[in-house]
Amino acid sequence: MELGELRYKQGFDAYQLFKEYELLGGVLFAFLATAVDEIEQPCKRSELLQCAHRVFHAVAIIQQATTMHFLRKSAAQVGAREQQLRGFNRTVSHELKNRVGAIRGAYSLLCESWVSESERNRFIEMIGENAEKMHVVLEDLISLSRLDGSARQQKNVLLPSAAAEAIRQLRQLARSRDVTVRLSPPLPAVEVNAAAVELCLTNYISNAIKYSDPEKADRFVEIAARVNDRREDGVDPELIVEVRDNGIGIPSEARDKLFDRFFRALDGNAPHEVEGTGLGLSIVRETVEMLGGRAWAEPSPIGGSVFAFSLPCRRSADGFGTSADAATSR
Ligand code: ADP
Repeated sequence: MELGELRYKQGFDAYQLFKEYELLGGVLFAFLATAVDEIEQPCKRSELLQCAHRVFHAVAIIQQATTMHFLRKSAAQVGAREQQLRGFNRTVSHELKNRVGAIRGAYSLLCESWVSESERNRFIEMIGENAEKMHVVLEDLISLSRLDGSARQQKNVLLPSAAAEAIRQLRQLARSRDVTVRLSPPLPAVEVNAAAVELCLTNYISNAIKYSDPEKADRFVEIAARVNDRREDGVDPELIVEVRDNGIGIPSEARDKLFDRFFRALDGNAPHEVEGTGLGLSIVRETVEMLGGRAWAEPSPIGGSVFAFSLPCRRSADGFGTSADAATSR
């Protein structure tokens, strides 16, 4: 069962688990075959067969215990994901229903002859705003669905090039807000899932630019990364990527909710109006969790915030496949 727990944590799939037992069985039978040749006491052939049967039985029982534990953990994960998906469905439907409701309401009022010119303009603005928000939500949903399931087939690149690509995509936004985006070298040269890491980095970096502090003369965003060796716990090392900024920071009471869908820490008391849907961070969290990692935020010691994510960093030399192949040590 402990082995089942460990293999589950390491991101094995059922095929790899069975293959491991096939190998173990092979090793034990090879040992038995040599041992049998060296036995000096006379014995019947049926006794030798009995002995082989016991070894086979023992391997089968251990295999059952490991696999049952592994499958139980996997089933619990599927259950939790299903629950998450239902919640997501509810929130998205609710959000879209509200926006469509506002658009329909404004439209039916626009059709009334008694509506004044100034009210008419307000309703047109309302329709525009709600349509724009729905567009952003739908764009976010599309990037989320692009990752679903296909993450394994997507290409891998080295972390420094994924970071450079994310910075390139946001160069214009950074320039418009007068924010410097820089790398804190050296970024470890580990292979990462290009689509997932670029999606997470562009979300974190664009937030850091959006929520920069207009009061500060030197506004910056810094990307840093390191590999944490966790091999002593029997778990593969993990890659940790951080996006640090000296922006407006996060109120401590909001920190736990930041990664919830549609949550916006600034609603109502934004120092300047910042466009957003509150979906970006939840997409980051789901993306990295899908690949076996985590996402979190911390206050920065220099003021501002640090947004981080981790990904398991599997050793390419361990001979096993890439079921949770989020990042691979070179
Ligand atoms: P959005 O930016 O579209 O509102 P996100 O899910 O990306 O949605 O972010 C959720 C909330 O977290 C934001 O509304 C903002 O209040 C807060 N936030 C995210 N990144 C930062 C940051 N770098 N600095 C300060 N606040 C942030």
